Amino acid sequence: MTGHAQTLRPFLSRAAQLYPDRELVARTGDGTVRYTYADYAERVGRLASALRAADVGRGDRVATVCWNHHYHAEAYFAVPTLGAQLHTINPLLPADDVRHIVAEAADRLLIVDASLAETLAAAYDPDAFESVEQVVVVGGETPDLPFDAVVDADAFVAEHDPDPDYPALAGDDPAGLCYSSGTTGRPKGVQYTQRMLWSHTMAILTPAGLDIADRDVVMPVVPMFHINAWGLPYAATAAGAKHVYPGPSPDPADLVDLIEAEGVTLTAGVPTVWLGVLEYLQDHDADLSTLERIVIGGAAPPERLIRAFDDRGVEVVHGWGMTETAPVGAVSHLKPDLRDADYETQLSKRTKQGLILPGLEFRVVDDSGELVPHDGESMGELLVRGPWVTTAYYGREDDEAFEGSWLRTGDVVTVDGDGYVELVDRAADVINSGGEWISSQALENAIMDHGDVREAAVVGVPHDRWGERPVAYVVADADDREALITDACARIREAYPDWWVPDRFEFVESVPKTATGKFDKVDLRDRFEGSLDE
Ligand code: ADP
Repeated sequence: MTGHAQTLRPFLSRAAQLYPDRELVARTGDGTVRYTYADYAERVGRLASALRAADVGRGDRVATVCWNHHYHAEAYFAVPTLGAQLHTINPLLPADDVRHIVAEAADRLLIVDASLAETLAAAYDPDAFESVEQVVVVGGETPDLPFDAVVDADAFVAEHDPDPDYPALAGDDPAGLCYSSGTTGRPKGVQYTQRMLWSHTMAILTPAGLDIADRDVVMPVVPMFHINAWGLPYAATAAGAKHVYPGPSPDPADLVDLIEAEGVTLTAGVPTVWLGVLEYLQDHDADLSTLERIVIGGAAPPERLIRAFDDRGVEVVHGWGMTETAPVGAVSHLKPDLRDADYETQLSKRTKQGLILPGLEFRVVDDSGELVPHDGESMGELLVRGPWVTTAYYGREDDEAFEGSWLRTGDVVTVDGDGYVELVDRAADVINSGGEWISSQALENAIMDHGDVREAAVVGVPHDRWGERPVAYVVADADDREALITDACARIREAYPDWWVPDRFEFVESVPKTATGKFDKVDLRDRFEGSLDE
């Protein structure tokens, strides 16, 4: 006995039935587009018909190279409803990585933002792009591109049926493909089935997830090329919430303006986005009264970021996840006993990566594979499994990231007595000093809590005696750098042993970032030549 298949399309067809007038709003390069769910369903239908006429079907791959806007939201449903895979390409990846993933994915059709056409052209190579039969340009004039068939989006969908006979799909049918940005090597492809995205959507709708409902106005700032914008376009549609898409590379002023103009209740993005917004808010009046929650993940939010938004009456919801977990795997909600606890106690939980979502299982193991106790101190690697956690990488076999059905996350964590997972570091970034571990993330957060510090990245560099020692790279506005270093060291000593204090602080203009906006520690380690005590 089974129920009907778990597929994505019913999320949209129900929303169009029940919330036909609820809106989807998008900024594009040259203005704001606004339409209803009834229009959304029609446009998705037309695009699906056009794709089918272009011979796209089950198991094919359609890639997007797009910012966050309605065209992208349309592809989010149109491609998977055919049983094809939506392959969201990160345009910030190095050109060589783009070539690698297009060739590996063998994408048949590419949907590209006019404003990203040059980026695509720069990555073009006839061999790597051999599989691409057609390019559809959205959001602007059709530029010169080195492909035989380039068509404008309006022309591509014109005359096509807005209400096609969609194919009957099963939960195991393909839906998506996303490459992790490769913070630790070449990007690896993660495939999503209909059931994976369906179950992830249902999980983040719940109060244990992101608690999204029809009254919400959801603005994903996290790029739609980065793990399905954390699943928000699907969840907002499933809930019948209003969508707001900020368009090409939005700056803090755009985001604040959209929150005010559209009444955004929930938004989401990595910490650096919200640090920028905070800085903007210091000099500008803004009415954030509608904004209830900011979902922050991808990297740990500094404590002062959570405090600053709390002071403005906006709750920071801290989440953890990865491409392999589609992506949300844990959210730091307060358990009932903690709701009456004092603010500092609550904050000490909210800065942790949180409680694993219902539907998933987790375990934490040490180097010899033994389970570590949940005492908030013992460290080990986090393993997770569940309906929306991948069990393989695309095109690779026997990857050591998997142990049977378990995904080895590569994240070193502790779990406290209440079950809150705290990420100590990525296994690749943890600093091994004399055989003992130092968490680079803990040091970064301690340093970033200084109000003058805009960014701080800590890496382990070779040391003759200790193997590795921490060096901090700091971006700060301070005139008195020595005073800043003294203060940062004091903050570190308050919470950690003396020997955790970095051996050196380097002041830099900016910290190099990966394509997903995370600190590029490989680059930082490479910058440091030689050994600390030479
Ligand atoms: P990559 O960075 O390799 O491209 P992802 O974008 O999938 O991969 O990032 C997943 C990783 O990001 C996690 O394994 C974890 O190390 C880090 N991460 C995600 N959320 C958080 C968080 N809330 N706090 C700290 N680190 C996080």
